[in-house]
This record gives sequence, C-alpha cells and structure tokens, in this order.
Amino acid sequence: MEIYLDANATTPVLPQAKAAAIQAMVEDYGNPSSVHSTGLKAKALIDGVRAGAQRLLDTGDGALLFVSGATEGIQTAVLSALNSLRGNLQAELLLYGATEHKAVPEALKHWNQVLGLDLQIEAIPVDTQGRHDLAFLRQHSARAGLVCTMAANNETGVISDLDGIEAALVGSPALWLVDGVQALGKLPLRLRDRRIDYAPFSGHKLYAPKGIGLLYVRAGAPFTPLMAGGGQEGSLRSGTENMSGIAALGAVLAALSDGATLRDEPTMSGFRDRLAAALVEAFPGLVFNAPMALSLPTTLNFAVPGLSSRLLQDLFDAADVRVSGGSACSAAKAAPSFVLQAMGLPDWQAAGAVRLSIGPAVDAAFIDEACARIRACGESLRRHCLSPANNFATLGDGITRFMQDGACCYLLADALSQRCVLIDARPEQVFRLAQALTCQGYPVLAVLSTTGEAEHAQARALLAEAVPELMPTRPCDALGWPLDVPALALGKQQLTRQGQVLLLGETDVPAIAFSGLSEPADLTACVGPNSLLAPARDEAQQVARCLASAEPTEELAAQQVQGTQLKAFMTYHPDALLVDVREPYEQFLSQTPELIGVQMEAMPLSRLLNAIHPWLTEQPQRPLLFFCRTGNRSRQAALALTRLGHGQAWTLAGGLALLPTATLSKHQPDPALYV
Ligand code: PLP
Repeated sequence: MEIYLDANATTPVLPQAKAAAIQAMVEDYGNPSSVHSTGLKAKALIDGVRAGAQRLLDTGDGALLFVSGATEGIQTAVLSALNSLRGNLQAELLLYGATEHKAVPEALKHWNQVLGLDLQIEAIPVDTQGRHDLAFLRQHSARAGLVCTMAANNETGVISDLDGIEAALVGSPALWLVDGVQALGKLPLRLRDRRIDYAPFSGHKLYAPKGIGLLYVRAGAPFTPLMAGGGQEGSLRSGTENMSGIAALGAVLAALSDGATLRDEPTMSGFRDRLAAALVEAFPGLVFNAPMALSLPTTLNFAVPGLSSRLLQDLFDAADVRVSGGSACSAAKAAPSFVLQAMGLPDWQAAGAVRLSIGPAVDAAFIDEACARIRACGESLRRHCLSPANNFATLGDGITRFMQDGACCYLLADALSQRCVLIDARPEQVFRLAQALTCQGYPVLAVLSTTGEAEHAQARALLAEAVPELMPTRPCDALGWPLDVPALALGKQQLTRQGQVLLLGETDVPAIAFSGLSEPADLTACVGPNSLLAPARDEAQQVARCLASAEPTEELAAQQVQGTQLKAFMTYHPDALLVDVREPYEQFLSQTPELIGVQMEAMPLSRLLNAIHPWLTEQPQRPLLFFCRTGNRSRQAALALTRLGHGQAWTLAGGLALLPTATLSKHQPDPALYV
C-alpha cells in the first residue's frame, strides 16, 4: 500500500468529491447559463457551492470567483493590481515574500513587462524562521503598489504573520495579495476583517480534483478580467464553468464544515508530532528546517547530515512512501531549495531537504503505518552502513563509487586482506565515508588523489580526524601515495601508479584505471585497450569507458523495453538476466520484483564497475535488462555496457514506477521490520 506524504504538492480526491463530480458530469450536466431546467439545476449547484465557500472563508461582501486554480487566481490578481497602477506615480515597487511560490514573482515579472509598467520588483527578506522582515516592509511599503505575501509556505509550512504584515502596511497605498493555497482548510484567513485585496486558492491541495480553484477579491479592489468572453461569473471570468470541479470542491467544503471527515488542528498536531518522533528515531542527527511552533501541523521539512535529498527520496520511494525533495534535483546535481536559502540555512540543509506533508483527511491508522515505514527506512540505512549509530552490516567488497555533484570517489575494499583504499574523496563526503569505513572496519592503506585537487587533501585531513584508528599513519606525498612504496597490495590485486593514473589489477595489464585525465591518448602508455577507465568526474553519467571503444559519432541510445512489453521480452529472451541497479538500501525495502522463472541479479549502480568485465567477457551475448525506480540509473548502466561493447544491454523504460502492477509481483518487505 502506498503511503502518500506529499499533500502540499497535491492530494487524492475525497470519495464524496469524486461522487459529486461524477454526478455533475453524468446527471447534472447542464450549462449554468442555459435558462432551461437542466441549466437552472447547474446554476443552482454553482450558487450553492459559492455560498458555502463564502461562509467558510468569511468573505463578507467580497467577490469569490471560480477559476482553474491558484496560478490563474494569481495572474488575475496581479493583472488587476498592475493595471490599476498605470499612471500612478506614487507606486514604484512591487514587493513579494522571498519564499513565495514561483507563480507570484513570475506573474509580477510577466505582467509588469506586458503592461509596460517597468516597476521595480523586490523580494521581502525572511528571517531564519521563514517569517517576513516586517521592518523592511514598513520601510518600503509607502512606495509599493502591490505587496504579495503567502499565508503559509508550501515547502516549510511556515505560517506568515498576517497581522504583523497588515500593521506594517498601515498608511501604505499598496494593494495586498495573500496566496491562500496552503492555508485552505487549515488556517482561517479572516478575509472579512483584514484588508487583504486578493486571495487565490487551489482545489487540488485539499482533496478536490485539479483544474478548479477560487479567487477572493475584496469589494472595491481593482479588477481586470483575465478572460473575456461569454460574461460568466458576472463577467469577471468568462468561459463555461468547470461544473464537475465546482461540484467536487463543494463536496470538500461541505466535508470541512461537517466536522467529521477532516481532522481538526490539535489532532493534526498530534499526528505531526508522531511523524517527527519517528523521523528523529530513524535518522539520527536529523534537523528540522523550520520551527514547528510557527508552522502548519501538516508539513515537516528536514535534512539528514551525510544523506542527499535524492538518496532519501529513493529510500522513501522504495518503502512505498511518497515524499518530496525540498529542492529540485537534476540528474547530476541537486539544486538547493531557494526557500531554505532565503531563510539563510546552511547549504547542506538547503540541498538535502526533504518535505513530508499530510492532509487533514488522514487518520490514526495511516499515521501508524507511515511511522512504521519511516522506522523501516532507518533500519535499512543501519543495515547498509548509512547511519551514524548501530550499523550492523559490512559494505560489499570490491569497488564502491560515491558520487557528489558529478565528482566520483571510489572505495576499493578487499575481504581477503581486510584492507581498503580511497580515491578522490571530497570534504562533503567525509561524513558518509567515515560511516562506511567504520562499518567495514578495514584499515585504509591510502587516501589518494588522481587530480591533485586541494579538496582531496582536505578530505584526507578530515578523515584522519573522523576515523583516526583506520587512517594510514605512514608519510605520503601530495597525492596521498605512501612514500617509498611502489605498490599497494589489495588481496590478489595490486594498485600501482603511473603519474597520476592509478592502476588496479592482478597482472601487468590493469583491469581498471582511475584517472583524472580526459584525453585517452595520455593513457595509452599505461592501460590496455580493454582496461576500464574510471573517471574522476562523470557529469555525462558514462560510469566507465575503455580505449577500445571508440567515441561514437552519434549519441548512443539505450535499447529500451517498455513495462507493457516486459513479459513478451522475457518470453522472447528466456536466458535474459534482469539486473536491479538500485542501491542495497532500496532493494532491502522493496526487494527485487520477481517474474516466475526469471533470473535476477542485484548490482547497484554504485558497484557496477565490479560486474562490467565478467559480463563483457563471460556473457557477451546474454541479454542484460537493467531496471531501477525511474529508468534513469538503468539507462546509464545499459548505455555504459553498450558503449563498452556489449550488444545485448537493455533498460526498462520508466523503471518500476511505470510497470503495470500485474506484470511483476513484489515481495513485501519483512513485516518484522514494521513493528
Ligand atoms: N501557491 C502555492 C503556495 C502553492 O503551493 C501552489 C502549488 O504548488 C501554487 C500557488 C500554484 O497552484 P496551482 O498549480 O494549483 O495553480
């Protein structure tokens, strides 16, 4: 069962909302502008929902329009405000909170340009708690034409001090837009009492379907329709109304009022505290990125030292728990959250943030299950050397690759000699590497650099502080190589070096070369044509190359198998090997899916280097079908094998996420872990 903890992104549709939408589509399908009975019924439905929304939001004599969502509401409000500022010489500034949803600053920029106003647009800074700088607002509000401040933040849940903002606006001629999206159903906005001019809302953040929203406009506030046409919504918003959306929103608003369907604030706070406690237990060292006392009880935003946002998202997803990265991740580099940056949080917190959000329809049993899964995630980290406390497993032997923003660090571990070597470690990885080394317990023969970068020497010094008992004490040169030692023995293999290239293998021809050099010509002197070249940086996500594989003139495309074709593929290739390239901490939580009779192998992408030679030499014709969660890592693996000369490497397009559930049956994680 999926545990959906991403309610701030969107919510499922409440059953009664779905029923109301279907009723509006199937039976009450009239156009509310028609004057016949079917139309009148539709008109009555709209009027009823609007009246309910007006009561609930306490709009007084303000207008409440049905729109397609908050983004449209924001456009309409910004257009209305900015259109009224034409020719107004007093207004010089457009102000918005630094942590506002992108829809607000982008709308300000857009309409400022389209209307040719050329007003200055400025962000109101926030403090470390995510609250607006009211002194800044007081100082600038006299020159402002429009001020935009959200009611509650979508990433952190931090609730704005609307009374403080209103006080700071006393004497200011500015119009005031309050984005109410995350507050709907959770926080009263007191629209009648406050001087708020515009407040947009979005239905899909509170159990209505996507495509329906509301815009509150204070009586007397300037208004310019965004949509002109048939004159619907009193000519304020033309276009035939989204009747099924309105009916569904009506059902949600009724549920809010009935007091039985949705939980109240104290209950939600209790749920939040339980989730927070489970997180703290599962992830030692975890820090919350926003103060709970000032936040909605439905949102938790946190970071864990040494664990990237991406890793945590993969981990939760493997446990069938849906959370959101607090930051946008591209394939190679995590972009830090601008919200957390605006709050002045350290980079690691802003880049490693995870958001967990619930809606008021959840119940205690759901929270029980969510807490159990969070604990299972912690358990998985402990079993895979990723927790600072109570690790009780060893890392795999061979080569493990650790990526950091495109840079590659390699840990070479040998079970026979119980020794290891680190190559190209970076300071940001020290926390995690120290955990891995402690967990494994092998003394480190050397902490080497293939590029001579200062970061590698820094990491060496930091590791010596973090795990002094495992670090080498022999004097070494600037690249970390022990003085007067021609080779480092790692069991049957030897690590030698030619200049800055590190060569690993049992014979004179190294199996693998670790190199910061980008020019293959420089390598021909020391490696064979089929030696794997493991790079110091891998932004292109190639994993490894070899000299024998010429650079393709065109970009390679991985051979793809669609989820719907998987069974047919396996029938056609009964000897195919399915390779799970997810990391062990994910495989542990949602173990390898199985097809009856299918041969499977777990080979995490971080350890792929160990498998490439055996596959290329021993099974060059055997179809290898790589899979992972989303299809990104499996595509990298399939492309690497193809580039290195394997003719039968495939990727499962879209990964497990897009697999029809009937195709593979999943092992459930061990229930004992969920107690
Ligand atoms: N404002 C806030 C605070 C939001 O969280 C969102 C959605 O994430 C929006 C505006 C935009 O809403 P929609 O995409 O429904 O138009």
